[in-house]
Amino acid sequence: MTESDEERRLEGTGVTPAVGVGPVHWLAADLELPDPPDADAVDPSTERERVANARERALEAIEHEREATAERVGESEAEIFDAHAAFLTDPQLEDGIDEAIDDGLPAAHAVRAAFEDPIAQFEAMEGPMAERADDLRDVRDRLVRTLLGRESTGIPSGSVLLAERLTPSDTTGLDPDAVAGVATVTGGRTAHAAILARALGLPAVVGVGEELRELEAGTRVVVDGERGLVIVDPDPETRARAERERDLEPIAEPVETADGRPIEVAANVGGDDFAAAADRGADGIGLFRTEFLFLDREEPPTEDEQYEAYADALEAFPDGRVIVRTLDVGGDKPLPYREGAPERNPFLGARGIRVALGELSDLFETQLRAICRAAATEDGGDLAVMFPMIATVEELEEALARLEAAASEVAEEGVDRERPEVGVMIETPSAAFVADELAARVDFLSIGTNDLTQYVMAADRENERVADLQDPLHPAVLRAIDRTTSHGGDAWVGVCGELAGDPAVTELLIGLSVEELSMSPIAIPAVKRRVREIDSAEARALADRALEAETREDVRTLLDGE
Ligand code: PEP
Ligand code: MG
Repeated sequence: MTESDEERRLEGTGVTPAVGVGPVHWLAADLELPDPPDADAVDPSTERERVANARERALEAIEHEREATAERVGESEAEIFDAHAAFLTDPQLEDGIDEAIDDGLPAAHAVRAAFEDPIAQFEAMEGPMAERADDLRDVRDRLVRTLLGRESTGIPSGSVLLAERLTPSDTTGLDPDAVAGVATVTGGRTAHAAILARALGLPAVVGVGEELRELEAGTRVVVDGERGLVIVDPDPETRARAERERDLEPIAEPVETADGRPIEVAANVGGDDFAAAADRGADGIGLFRTEFLFLDREEPPTEDEQYEAYADALEAFPDGRVIVRTLDVGGDKPLPYREGAPERNPFLGARGIRVALGELSDLFETQLRAICRAAATEDGGDLAVMFPMIATVEELEEALARLEAAASEVAEEGVDRERPEVGVMIETPSAAFVADELAARVDFLSIGTNDLTQYVMAADRENERVADLQDPLHPAVLRAIDRTTSHGGDAWVGVCGELAGDPAVTELLIGLSVEELSMSPIAIPAVKRRVREIDSAEARALADRALEAETREDVRTLLDGE
């Protein structure tokens, strides 16, 4: 395969658990305005009247979109348009436009000029306020378009829309059945446009960065709003998978193999999209990446904030297990408020349980208290705790002692004492080698194939140069999985790395005696379907052959049924 034949993956922030495929169509960037005429040729009173008329028409359009959004999406999302109406009639902005007209600019140029400073002021702010600049741009562009008589944007059906950024009205104007997906150069998860895309179920990835700009109209891309990827020139396998994930109806009930072996299919969740995971048919949450509650902020979340988040997850799955993984920072997930010199090899350094038991002990204790409190709520019986990056029995014993201490502390404060189910992630070769000893102390083991592959193969999961080694289908990784399942004693064993979400590998994992699979919600319908087709004895035979394979190519050939 030549370089140009290979698919390319651009990373951004996924905002919807949905996937789309289609050719690129660029949404017009900022509307081009011709150079303004000489000031003498501009009649201020005519221009002021034009602005007033355009404002009225824009207000009507906003009102119309507000109603349509309330109906299609919901009342709280529709409120975005109230803010737009308020911007449109803001006296300061009105004065700014009048002043620019008095300085000799025609209407559209005056609108541009008057919005410049307020947009820059919002942009200079920290956090979500910065994203309000998008709303101002939206109002500005609406006014300019109305003044130029160019209200419609004309997007070809089936295309993936790319834009510098999306405004809320760009987004609500999109028909989710006609647009395959959207991706933007800038923007974050909490921008109004992202919230709307999520509510409309539009596959969307925001904040992809400069590389997105290089994509030409017509280039075929996959927008994976769950994994936060724009895949350029997807290879046939990726496309087939994207199309499968796009079209499948979720299966709400738990599934079993064709010969009756129950397999739990759960969701990996990083933010607060528990409802989206439930909608995709997740039986529960197999991996709640709680570190996302701690990243991208200046202070750690309080115990109460965490308690609320865990309780919300439990509420979304009243009948399903919710596995809360404790703080897993370090490596590729630096904590902004963590002190200390940078490490030379952060993936081999103080990450996961190592920091939780050491320098971040206080945060860990607060988290364990919040978890114990959530376990005592009405839906809390299904809460489980899981420790990341365990390498030794001593670490596990220490973590269990801290959990016990937190449970006693909150019990003394009057909270019912519940012992949540406890599990360990198998992400290091050492954990796989001492799986028996770990399993004897916990209820379950969950194999994190992303890190396990990185450590078994000694290949940084972020380093493109060793991407070939980052394949969980290497026989060494499969044997590490087998080592874990065959030495798990009474503990049940699941997989929560990316591998779990690949339906082409489901049979092999079931054959390796995995009982639970936890994955990106988007993959759940396809995996549940696959589970139902599998016969456990055939799966075991496949696993036996895969364990004898010498290369990953041999494993892939086996999986292809050749
Ligand atoms: C893993 O390592 O496989 C895993 C699920 O954890 P994370 O990807 O969050 O490191
Ligand atoms: Mg991991």
